[in-house]
Amino acid sequence: MATSQHEIARRRTFAIISHPDAGKTTLTEKLLLFGGAIQLAGTVKGRKSARHATSDWMELEKSRGISVTSSVMQFPYDGRIVNLLDTPGHEDFSEDTYRTLTAVDSALMVIDSAKGVEDRTIKLMEVCRLRDTPIMTFVNKLDREGREPLELLDEIERVLTIRCAPVTWPIGSGRRFKGVYHLIENSVHFYAPAHGGRVPEGKVIHGLDNPFLDEVLGEQAAELRQEIELMKGAAETFSREAYLAGTQTPVFFGSAINNFGVKELLDAFVVHAPGPRAREADARQVEPTEEKFSGFVFKIQANMDPKHRDRIAFLRITSGRYEKGMRLFQVRTQRDMQVMNALTFMANERERVEEAYAGDIIGLHNHGTIQIGDTFTEGEALKFGGIPYFAPELFRRVLLADPMRMKALQKGLDQLSEEGATQVFRPLSGNDLVLGAVGVLQFDVVAWRLKHEYGVECRYEAVDVATARWIEGDDAKVRDFRRQYEARLALDRAGHLVYLAPSTVNLNVTMERWPDIRFRATREH
Ligand code: GDP
Repeated sequence: MATSQHEIARRRTFAIISHPDAGKTTLTEKLLLFGGAIQLAGTVKGRKSARHATSDWMELEKSRGISVTSSVMQFPYDGRIVNLLDTPGHEDFSEDTYRTLTAVDSALMVIDSAKGVEDRTIKLMEVCRLRDTPIMTFVNKLDREGREPLELLDEIERVLTIRCAPVTWPIGSGRRFKGVYHLIENSVHFYAPAHGGRVPEGKVIHGLDNPFLDEVLGEQAAELRQEIELMKGAAETFSREAYLAGTQTPVFFGSAINNFGVKELLDAFVVHAPGPRAREADARQVEPTEEKFSGFVFKIQANMDPKHRDRIAFLRITSGRYEKGMRLFQVRTQRDMQVMNALTFMANERERVEEAYAGDIIGLHNHGTIQIGDTFTEGEALKFGGIPYFAPELFRRVLLADPMRMKALQKGLDQLSEEGATQVFRPLSGNDLVLGAVGVLQFDVVAWRLKHEYGVECRYEAVDVATARWIEGDDAKVRDFRRQYEARLALDRAGHLVYLAPSTVNLNVTMERWPDIRFRATREH
């Protein structure tokens, strides 16, 4: 038991959120590099040009191996076990990203110093807010001319409504970028650009009044002292309580591609980021240190590795310990399952785990019996909530090239929607299949996978749907509503009634007309 407590307390499970191109992939690789999980960073090269073509993208996802194919990367650092959960790295953020954020204890936000807060970041922050997830911030690309740091912090505070507490502060930027000043340690870390896999031995000196500073920085030393003075007047100091409550974000500056500022970030991260947090289930709150195992499935992914053509259900352990061969109780089906071969994802290899603890993610082989949102326990009938489906914002009708392949299409869509790659709606009238997605690339991925994994060719057609809402209410009311709106209603994969609105105006009018019906923008698994 004592070892379990220790193991659980040293877990750090997080995800990186950012707008595309801010440097999430680069930072991921550098974190793995500092964590000793890979020897050489530098696999980012050459993938940008091909990024927009879907088929290339799929191939790329497969071939890159480090941060995209591996959904979970675990590495030890400074006495802790770090679990970094990857979120899809492409232009379109998808529901997968949202759901992954329900499985972490904290997040790392990457901001491009020249671009500041961008729209994808805003959306992802909204999702983090649902659970008050603590956020650390890394302002990246200081080796380029960027915006004034104070101005950036101001923008983060204004747009994301979270207070900023700088932990490191940049010394110049672009060609004048000389390093960072560490406010907590009162030390200056000099910048030594180092591309690729070499961890630089950047020089560190103590104290802002250190004469060595003037020697190295020249006139920039005085500037720095002045700026720090100014900044201390304007910004908050770091408070671990405020950070853990999700009201303050500690901010670090650096250049991921040059390995700079990343170690300072990681050092602070493992110390301050929360370990596994308690989680609400329907009946009670579950503490991570409880002796009995519990966990929930937040993601299902197929065919990750061409050598293992299986589907993997990703389970976040919420309490206790997993041990190879353990019997787990699947609450939804009330069935026991003996788990001999759960997987973990050390850097880019899949390895059998003998044991895992609260905070860890394990991969269960899924033969169609596990769903997103499933809770597993050692027998208690618990149900974790909070793994939502989000109402899609984009819709397409699916057209089949060969009508004889209908069965295969249905099977494919069923499995792909089970994974959360898309949502499938069957209108009550007619034989259409309507797909819903949050990001437009999801459609391309689904078509590509239907073709390559299920041998089904399909096209898409525009459909007169702007947004969707799950319908709830008492039976009689829902029956009335259903009679009147038959043409605009559909069933989702699980058989729930969904209103497909042709416009938001239509949705608002309908909602006003039917005050007794609940129109839900999210539905829990
Ligand atoms: P992602 O889309 O957020 O995963 O971003 P990437 O990690 O792929 O980075 C986007 C682009 O920015 C790539 O061309 C990187 O080489 C580049 N990049 C990443 N970090 C830095 C940095 O610190 N400085 C500069 N100048 N470029 C960077």
